[in-house]
Amino acid sequence: MQQQNEKNEIPFNGEFEDSEEESDEVSEEDSEDDSLQNKRKRKRRQLVNNNKRLIMNVSDTQYAAVKFVGKILNKFKLQYTPYQETQVWDFCWTDNAVLPETLARMQSHQRINHFPGMYCIARKNYLGKNLNKMAKQFPSEFDFYPKTWMLPSDISDLRQYIGKIKYFIVKPEASCQGRGIFLTKQIESIASEHCVVQRYLHKPLLIDGLKFDFRMYVLLAGCDPLRIYLFKEGLARFATQPYQQPNQMNAEEMCMHLTNYAINKDNPNFVFNTDEKQLDIGHKRSLSSVFKLLSQQTNIDELMAKIKDLIIKTFCSVQPFLQSNYTQPDNYANNMCFEILGFDILIDNTYKPYLLEVNHTPSFTADTPLDALIKKNLIRDTITLMNINLKVKNELQQLQKEQMQKRVFGKKLKLSNEEKKSLKIQAQIEREQYESQHLGNFEKIYPCDKSYDEYLQHAQKIYEEWTGANIRRNIKKDNFTERDKLTQQRQIQHSITIQGSVDSNNKQQVDPAKSSNRKSLYKNVLIKKENKSNFINKVFSNPQKSMTELPQQQPLEQKLQDRDDNEIASEDFQSTSKYQDNIERAKRPPSFYVMKSIKQNQELQLVDFFNYKRISIPETSPQSQPNTQQVLQISQQQQFKSVTQLARKFSIRKSNKSKLKSSESDQEAKKDLIQAFNQYSQIQQQQQQSSFFQSQQQNFLNQQPLQNGSFVKPKVFNLKLQPPHFKIPPFPILMQQQNYYKFRYD
Ligand code: ADP
Repeated sequence: MQQQNEKNEIPFNGEFEDSEEESDEVSEEDSEDDSLQNKRKRKRRQLVNNNKRLIMNVSDTQYAAVKFVGKILNKFKLQYTPYQETQVWDFCWTDNAVLPETLARMQSHQRINHFPGMYCIARKNYLGKNLNKMAKQFPSEFDFYPKTWMLPSDISDLRQYIGKIKYFIVKPEASCQGRGIFLTKQIESIASEHCVVQRYLHKPLLIDGLKFDFRMYVLLAGCDPLRIYLFKEGLARFATQPYQQPNQMNAEEMCMHLTNYAINKDNPNFVFNTDEKQLDIGHKRSLSSVFKLLSQQTNIDELMAKIKDLIIKTFCSVQPFLQSNYTQPDNYANNMCFEILGFDILIDNTYKPYLLEVNHTPSFTADTPLDALIKKNLIRDTITLMNINLKVKNELQQLQKEQMQKRVFGKKLKLSNEEKKSLKIQAQIEREQYESQHLGNFEKIYPCDKSYDEYLQHAQKIYEEWTGANIRRNIKKDNFTERDKLTQQRQIQHSITIQGSVDSNNKQQVDPAKSSNRKSLYKNVLIKKENKSNFINKVFSNPQKSMTELPQQQPLEQKLQDRDDNEIASEDFQSTSKYQDNIERAKRPPSFYVMKSIKQNQELQLVDFFNYKRISIPETSPQSQPNTQQVLQISQQQQFKSVTQLARKFSIRKSNKSKLKSSESDQEAKKDLIQAFNQYSQIQQQQQQSSFFQSQQQNFLNQQPLQNGSFVKPKVFNLKLQPPHFKIPPFPILMQQQNYYKFRYD
């Protein structure tokens, strides 16, 4: 606090001439004369200097207030090299939007004053779209902005309001300073234009007969999770002509209907603020002075609560988008970006606040004492709250060094999701502690006691629908939950299988977790896993008789490779080395899955996942081969025995089933498997006594591993992902339009 008071004492009159960058760098002339040793010395000095002061890049800001606070109040070293061209800065303040790539390139100690993707609320049309989507679900909760239509897409909806709404206010999609705004009743004349149309709030609250609105400064200090602070001071901007409800005579009077400083300051009536001690007069006043005035008429706390609520809801509507643009997911403190946003709020004559607009590059021009005072304090408090200082930088760099060393010594650095989560929580707690003691003139408005989860969840849903992420996520979720459930079951199943088989000496057993991955992709299909030896033992006439030998494996792989509809692809397995996978697979003992359709109860499938063999046998069709008939009988019996507890439900689409049934190659596979059974019968008759383990292992090691290492999903899942009629919506074109704001204004 003491430090802050000291800072306060340094006056700022709105102007600041910086004596250019203090250059430590070696100039070309110097470098010609200099010996190598001198050059090294300079470089070392430069490094030491860099470590003594924080470097603030101000190459892309025009505001004296920013430079003043950086250099004079915080003792930062100002840098003027474009921030995109150098990485030697600790803190960057830019007047323009930043791209996700910029953030992705940043190191953990660097800070920047924008979130990538903030145009999602800073452009009028996107703000309108995002709020409209939320309002559809929560109409009474999202009624804090004037009804908005985006033309030309919303024209038919807008037509329904013609006659019901007296006047509309028409705004360009992405402009500012009141440019291009007009009032109209004639919607048809602009029906094909790209613009934003709003209900004109024709009964605003007036002070001294003048319309006014508030510019409130909001600091978004983190987007995942949201951290929102409201600056207690702001501006009230007044129109310069007495207000009348719009009519044909006055609809074009901009100084009556618009409160923009840029429009009204040129009106001869405009009264400028001249003294920082007199903030309650003129056409631009301090927010607090107007609140004081209003407190005589209404309950200011209630009004403030409504304003805070609308601010939080606005952020909730775009939180998932901001999070997806935050390309530093391992920044557990969630603090590499921050942003000061200007919320424009109009109060109507019932004291209901309306959000008109959000500015992500509010003006920091300090052309009056009022502006200079508010903006200097705002920037100063922001830097303090964001904890941008040398100590933090050094700590982070030290941490980085340690991690690097660990990496060099081969220590495990990859964190589990649980570990990441707890690190994140820890970082949030630390932030909470620090920020609560360094609020300055800020008030934390989110997180707060009230829960906004339902809005956040709905926004997430909207976002996923928009990007198609819900489809991908659902599939992944299916896989994961099935996998989790199965992992446990696999283990029990596996032990039972091993117990009942002659395979107990075989050390190369199936990894239950891995095998469950594969199975989890089938749904609504009853699956029983049997060790091949055990399975065949049961299949053939004398299930009690111990297995002594296995039939020669049929080389079905070659045929199955051509089977398009049998190809199983997996996201989970794509990343693993196919070659390694094949070797591993060849070493594993054989396993069968007997899958039976539950929905239609029409077919039985025998699948050897390790060897990519599968046959589908229609249950209804009579089987000529006695062996196959037995397979069916026994597997059906097994469903009702103890093995049933091992069964899992999976779904497989009807379309896929019919495809599989009709597939020719399926017939081939069936023939092959039946042939294998027949062979086995013969072998059994001959009663050869060669070693089961040797032959089994040899057989599998001899097999050619499949060329196609991808595994897991039957094609139906690919179809589910991208059916012919389905198109993942393209990423919005707005991603490319980051630098649309060239003008800043109050
Ligand atoms: P700009 O970004 O160009 O300033 P705004 O949306 O902030 O555009 O609108 C400019 C001004 O117009 C506001 O300050 C306000 O006075 C007035 N205004 C905007 N929308 C409405 C509305 N729906 N009803 C009444 N007045 C409005």
